[in-house]
Amino acid sequence: MTIEWQAGRLDSDLDGVGFDTLAVRAGQHRSPEGEHSEAIYPTSSYVFRTAADAAARFAGEVPGNVYSRYTNPTVRAFEERIAALEGAEQAVATSSGMSAILSIVMSLCSAGDHVLVSRSVFGSTISLFEKYLKRFGVQVDYVPLADLDAWAAAFKPNTKLLFVESPSNPLAELVDIAALAEIAHGKGALLAVDNCFCTPALQQPISLGADIIMHSATKYIDGQGRSMGGVVAGKAELMKEVVGFLRTAGPTLSPFNAWIFLKGLETLRVRMQAHCASAQQLAEWLEQQPGIEHVYYAGLPSHPQHELAKRQQRAFGAVVSFEVRGGKEAAWRFIDATRVISITTNLGDTKTTIAHPATTSHGRLSPQERANAGIRDNLVRVAVGLEDIADLKADLARGLAAL
Ligand SMILES: *Cc1c(COP(=O)(O)O)cnc(C)c1O
Repeated sequence: MTIEWQAGRLDSDLDGVGFDTLAVRAGQHRSPEGEHSEAIYPTSSYVFRTAADAAARFAGEVPGNVYSRYTNPTVRAFEERIAALEGAEQAVATSSGMSAILSIVMSLCSAGDHVLVSRSVFGSTISLFEKYLKRFGVQVDYVPLADLDAWAAAFKPNTKLLFVESPSNPLAELVDIAALAEIAHGKGALLAVDNCFCTPALQQPISLGADIIMHSATKYIDGQGRSMGGVVAGKAELMKEVVGFLRTAGPTLSPFNAWIFLKGLETLRVRMQAHCASAQQLAEWLEQQPGIEHVYYAGLPSHPQHELAKRQQRAFGAVVSFEVRGGKEAAWRFIDATRVISITTNLGDTKTTIAHPATTSHGRLSPQERANAGIRDNLVRVAVGLEDIADLKADLARGLAAL
């Protein structure tokens, strides 16, 4: 269906345009008011011209909105824009990143299916699989993210889905997405990628062979720490199932948040460029400081997967983790000495954040599990925002002085 979005202009006029143009223009369907910025439609339901029109729309015989748990024009604009940026056939928005992951598993897996998850995924993702999905008969095993042989060896006859986060948090490990997709498809399984840390501005997993991607839009897509949301995107045939689950179960996105994310996408690439440039400078500077034992950042030639990162990503992301000289107390002193950077575990914000993974995001793991995940007590994570680089360096220098 082509919708007229401005007198004489059609959706198809955007065929073949670049990423930046899509980020600003894809998905907008202007109302007859002619608004330049996208409109917000805070409505739960929609009126029909006649009873017959209502029946036809409910039956799906004619396109159109029925109820905002199913579709909403502002949410649809966000979905279309994300699909365009990820190179996906279709996208559907969710109320949070976690409900995006839930929707993928609920729609594509059944009791008795086996899922392989990369070991270093977001903490709530592990809780979702361990505490809830396992109760409904979904079998789950964890694989070290970067180890392709370990992935190949972990398959069972009932392995249905692989779920990975690349790069990982907080240690910035990567998996070769194209190679992993090939392994998955060779065994008849699907590959899902949490693309939250890179965003489509840096990495498009679907073009590398992944079947489905998801985001916590709460992070870089919003980019200013204002609202919760998520999105799933992929091939239409898979998305049909995800859309079906979401419309039935209801963790859909509000039009207000969809509007914030639409605006976020318009500046996503320039923000990511600035985030990454500052992260690179800070990582290089930190690596030279005597108080720092090790820096984890894929933009450093010392990173074991630097070459893969250069091939697979357009830049190296904005999360820089490092081990300070000393233990937990030293890490805490470092964090507490900062004056500009916020002590919080969130990321993907204009404001730089600093956190101690061993006692926050990874605090619920046993010491052995933490050791397996490579999270040491002297590890500090910085998610680099958009402040002046000189001020960020000065703030981290306060941390170094407190070691
Ligand atoms: C934050 C985050 C999530 C969860 O998203 P919410 O929007 O908080 O539900 C999932 N994956 C990654 C990588 C995240 O950083």
